[in-house]
Amino acid sequence: MTKFLIDSLQPKLVAQFARIIDRKQLAQSYLFVGPKGAGKLALAEWIALRLFCQNVQDGAPCGQCPECERILNHNHPDVMVVKTETQSIKVDDIRGLKQEMSKTGVEGNQRVFVVEDADKMTAGAANSLLKFFEEPVPGMTVILTATSKNQLLPTILSRAQVITFQSPDRSAVIAKLEEGGATSQMARVAGRLTGNVADAQALLASATFQDRVTKVFQLLERLADHDPESFVRVQTQLLPIAKDADSQRQVLALIGLAYADALNQHFQVTSMQQLDLPAIGVLAQRSSEQLTTALQAILTAQVRLSQNVTFQSATEQLMLKLLEG
Ligand SMILES: [Zn+2]
Repeated sequence: MTKFLIDSLQPKLVAQFARIIDRKQLAQSYLFVGPKGAGKLALAEWIALRLFCQNVQDGAPCGQCPECERILNHNHPDVMVVKTETQSIKVDDIRGLKQEMSKTGVEGNQRVFVVEDADKMTAGAANSLLKFFEEPVPGMTVILTATSKNQLLPTILSRAQVITFQSPDRSAVIAKLEEGGATSQMARVAGRLTGNVADAQALLASATFQDRVTKVFQLLERLADHDPESFVRVQTQLLPIAKDADSQRQVLALIGLAYADALNQHFQVTSMQQLDLPAIGVLAQRSSEQLTTALQAILTAQVRLSQNVTFQSATEQLMLKLLEG
């Protein structure tokens, strides 16, 4: 039986929907709200698989039968997903969806319609869908996904069942990255920096990211040794690998992860997510006050960077602080 990503990201919600579908209590419309990478679209897809699969086992779709395959290949006639890369979903963008919704089912009655990023719908677009939330249509399931409820029309909110997604468990994200071939160390780095599989995989695919991580790890070894050269390294080693805002934030976040791990190790708290670095063992020998001060300094550097202090200045100041401790 196929294991789906959503099984590890949101096991409780999967179990909840397996029960709901078993009892034939699926509502007509849902709103899935939660952070990026929490598995909202993946759960919507799982529900479609579960509804159409010809070979459901223990409440789970098989992922292999012709129905499952068509859904996974995005060419099932009764499963429609609307996505957009643009800033808003306008009336025109959902015209096709509305037409499909107005038809009766092509094969049987069951149909699933999904609108990703429904919070991007203009008021006009949302209003044009309203009637599908008002009049029950047997066999129709509409799932909207959104990162926040704030942008959605109250009329939609009041008609859809709201399901709130928590951020996925980091260890599930890391395990998934390892399954995809990442080393344990890089899976931890990318999983902890992003908190979601898709963004982490994008990072791992980038050679510059790998280089950035290596340079920061080398710097951490110097810092652990109280090597004053750490200050110079900001200019010689970090600036070339941290040219844009994202990579600059990553550098500081990575230093923060290492010091947080050192503080945990200091208190003998170990975790499967901890980075495997000699520097962390050395830093863990410092006092908890020193480590806490270091973490505060890292936070200060992150705040200064967000307030348009240059990366070089914020990070050099940070090195001075970290070398003191
Ligand atoms: Zn199947």
